[in-house]
Parts: sequence; structure tokens; C-alpha cells
Amino acid sequence: MITPNSGTIEGADRFYAVFDGHSGAPLADLALALLERQKMTWPGLAGGYEALGEARLREIHGEDWGVKIQFNPRRIVSSGAKVDPETIRRRPCFLCPDHLPPEQQAILYRDDYLILCNPMPIFPGHLTIAHCRHLPQSLPENMLTLLKLAFDFGPRMTLFYNGPRAGASAPDHLHFQAAPAGLMPVEKEILDPRKRAGARRRDGVEICRTAGLARGILLIEGTEEGNVAAAVGDVIDILGRGAPSDGEPLLNILCTRTGEGWRLILFPRLKLRPAAYFLEGEERILVSPGAVDMAGMLITPMEKDFHALTPDLVCGIFREVAFDDAAVGALLDAI
Ligand SMILES: [Zn+2]
Repeated sequence: MITPNSGTIEGADRFYAVFDGHSGAPLADLALALLERQKMTWPGLAGGYEALGEARLREIHGEDWGVKIQFNPRRIVSSGAKVDPETIRRRPCFLCPDHLPPEQQAILYRDDYLILCNPMPIFPGHLTIAHCRHLPQSLPENMLTLLKLAFDFGPRMTLFYNGPRAGASAPDHLHFQAAPAGLMPVEKEILDPRKRAGARRRDGVEICRTAGLARGILLIEGTEEGNVAAAVGDVIDILGRGAPSDGEPLLNILCTRTGEGWRLILFPRLKLRPAAYFLEGEERILVSPGAVDMAGMLITPMEKDFHALTPDLVCGIFREVAFDDAAVGALLDAI
């Protein structure tokens, strides 16, 4: 039996393994083993994977971009979730250790986080990495954790982060997510040099933006942890200055370990949900974009929306909820 080093969690049965970075199996292998075990021991997770197996995919292409649409009815829980502060305050937090399903097990990560299988997966191997304590979702002070997670998982996995007002379904509980690398269309698109613009270097960190991908995206790449974290911190500072709202600026981030360094794909946001989300009846489009959607995998829990989306509608949704190329260009100039 594994005894956790953290005194905050009851019940050693909760722990499938402990990852402390010093010894044992690579983290990506541990997570895969956890997933295979949990599919057998946790019917709720098996059901989630059955639903994912039945999820349908189609592709939509614009002039220089492409997205995938995933029809996944189970995701209604997330896409349809109320995320206003009052609702969040009243509901039991589903990421707090006390409220996890009894069958759910975790890898205790560096004393502070639980690596968990997501029971409503968008990808095979979809993980949630939740802090052991109920702390608010917030990036700048946890940026080094995101980089460390990407380092520990290695290039096979992409980490992602939804800001508290930009798609996090638990904005009150600090968490990241992970998926196998390369499944989100933007991860491949940004490798094409023709889709990059405005590159500059600062403290060994390369920062540029994308061009022509229907939404504005900032890329940050570097090999020195502190400098990469500082570059992201600066971007968040600048975004915060321009936004007349309280709290963290709206953003989604993907983070992958690449060879000796890190690559971050950052989506500055204007709002969480497009106007069509709030329409009634047939006109409603139930798309609630988070990091995965911004990265080109749009999740539709309603079959009607799965068929209805067109390149124009996708562009319209991106235009409403995200910065465009010019706005990210201005952001880049301010760095
Ligand atoms: Zn919580």
C-alpha cells in the first residue's frame, strides 16, 4: 500500500501511485497504467470511454485552417454548465478529494496534485490534474507547475489550461488537463512556418503569432523554465491592463515539452460563449469554447449543432470569443 506524503487526503486507497520526480516509471506510463486499471474498476469511467467510442467526428476547412467537430452527448455536463459565481459557490466541488467518486484513484503528483482520469473524455487518455486543496484557478503563480507537468509527462502529452472565466468548469479549484499530443488540429498547424508571423526573441524565448487561422494565437517557445514563465507572465500582465474586468484575463493555454524546451500556444479571449449559445430553440448553438475548442476540436453535445456548423459559423464563433490576428499583433508589439 502506498502512503501519501501529503497529510491533506484521507484514505490511501485513493492513491494508485506516487510520482515524486526522483524514481519510478515515467509519468506518461504511470498515467496510462492508471487509465487501464480505472477502466476496469470504475464503471463511470468505462461508460465515459464507451461514449467516446461512439462520438462522431467531422472536419471543417476554411481557406488556411481546419477544425474537427466532435459530437459527444456526454459533454453536455460541461458545455451546458452554469459557471456563474453563485452556482459555483453552491455546488459541491467535483474536484475536491472528498467529493471524488469512491472508485476514482489518483497518482499523487509531487505532493500537491492528483492526476485523475477524466470520466467524460474528449480524447483517449484525457486526464485532469487537480490540486489537492480547494484553491482558485489562477495561472501566473502556477505557471511553473504547468511547465513542470509538461516536462514530467514529456512530449507524448499536451497539457492545457482553461482560465477561470474562459472555459474552466471548476473555476474555484486549481486544475490542469492533459491529452495525448498532436490530437488538436492547431498543434500541427502552428508547425507550418507560413502560418507564423512577427517572431521576436527575448531572453532566449521566441515569441510570435499565427496568421490566417481564423483566431489570433500567440506562440511562446523557449528552453529556460524561468524565462518562459516570465514571458507568459508578461503576456498575462499586458492582457490584464487592457481588460476592464476583475480577475485573470480570459485565456486558454496549451503546453508541450519539445526536445529541450517548451512550446506554449496561448489563446487570448474576449468572452466565454458566443451569442448563439444563448438563443432559444433551433437557433441555439451549444458550443462553449475552452482550450480544446480553441485548439480546433469543437465539442458539440447536440447532434443538430454537429451537422449545422459551417466554416462561416466557426469563423463567427472564433471572432466573437477570441482575439483576431491584428489584436494578437498589437499584444506582441506591447511585449
Ligand atoms: Zn474543490
